[in-house]
Amino acid sequence: MWTPSIVSALENAETPLYFYDMVLLKKTLAEIIQTSKVYDFHVHYALKANNNTKVLQIIQEAGLGADCVSGNEIELAVEHGFKTNQIVFAGVGKTVKEILTALKHQIFCFNVESVQELEVIAQLCLENETTARIALRINPNVDAHTHHYITTGLDENKFGILTHELPLCLEIIEKNSQLQLCGLHFHIGSQITDLNVFKSLCVKVNEWNRWFINRGHEVKVLNVGGGLGIDYDQPDAVGIPDFAVFFAIFNQFLERKPDQQIHFELGRSIVGQCGSLISRVLYIKNGLKKNFAILDAGMTELLRPSLYQAYHKIETVKRHLQSESEMIYDVVGPICESSDCFGKEVRLAELNRGDLIAIRSAGAYGEVMALRYNLRAPLNFVYLE
Ligand SMILES: *Cc1c(COP(=O)(O)O)cnc(C)c1O
Repeated sequence: MWTPSIVSALENAETPLYFYDMVLLKKTLAEIIQTSKVYDFHVHYALKANNNTKVLQIIQEAGLGADCVSGNEIELAVEHGFKTNQIVFAGVGKTVKEILTALKHQIFCFNVESVQELEVIAQLCLENETTARIALRINPNVDAHTHHYITTGLDENKFGILTHELPLCLEIIEKNSQLQLCGLHFHIGSQITDLNVFKSLCVKVNEWNRWFINRGHEVKVLNVGGGLGIDYDQPDAVGIPDFAVFFAIFNQFLERKPDQQIHFELGRSIVGQCGSLISRVLYIKNGLKKNFAILDAGMTELLRPSLYQAYHKIETVKRHLQSESEMIYDVVGPICESSDCFGKEVRLAELNRGDLIAIRSAGAYGEVMALRYNLRAPLNFVYLE
């Protein structure tokens, strides 16, 4: 990964910075397109994972649709050339302003998350003499076997419509001709590595698809969301997730009618491995019980470890003094919070002030979560094109 030319570019840049491997991103997209077109699957990119302009441009050029979770994300997707008829809009708390933004652009579909939201969209359509395509986001009560903060498909989560409310949703849709039911939507969580979870999801999708068909609503789209995990342990060996296996599961287990389309919303699996947070060692502090490597990057640049104990591989990119010995460090940031820690008891070659460190697999939910806490400076970037 860290070839001499990349290292020299990084050495000349101000840290902390996000390094994006656009070559890997393009390869990942090519793989997605090749493996999804076999089954005529439609893939949307979940902008919330990374909305860096250069990243968005490449994804848009590849022809993917956009999965947005705010009005601003819809505007950003449109600005970056995503086709409005390939934009979907999810989120439990859509405001009037955001719904109007989506109506103005006539996006492909609202992924509706509550009965009340359905009523508000119906009302806003009437007031604005327009129509809206609707997919009902069903909470299928499937355990994603992932961290509880990124599980979304259980009854106890705030996401989606609980299944006992679906008859009421159908009543509202039947009463309001400005609402067009076009799909069923599911998204059960993120960083899912146990692929059996997706088989369980398919079983639930089939159940609900039949339920709607029996009531005279054969929807055009079954949207199964995203959530495919990446390998945080081996970012180089497994740089591209196994999309072929992932799509094959849905092809095998989903019972789609001939006219039904299958849609996906992938975020992390598209952009996760193409980004690294690059940082310099500011100080080495040898404590009584621990050695601390204090970096110039902190939770303000990459929040995931502090927010949900996420693991990111930490490695040295360039050391200035070559010693053979290895040391155990707690790798921490400069922010005034004890949770500002990238890794505890990390074994690394002996570090010194000024050495360059990479925190890998930071392309998804990294840059987008950057904070200004402690009045941190804006991020810097290096791109491998
Ligand atoms: C976050 C999100 C996604 C993308 O999830 P990944 O785990 O990044 O693939 C897809 N759909 C919805 C509704 C989301 O909220």
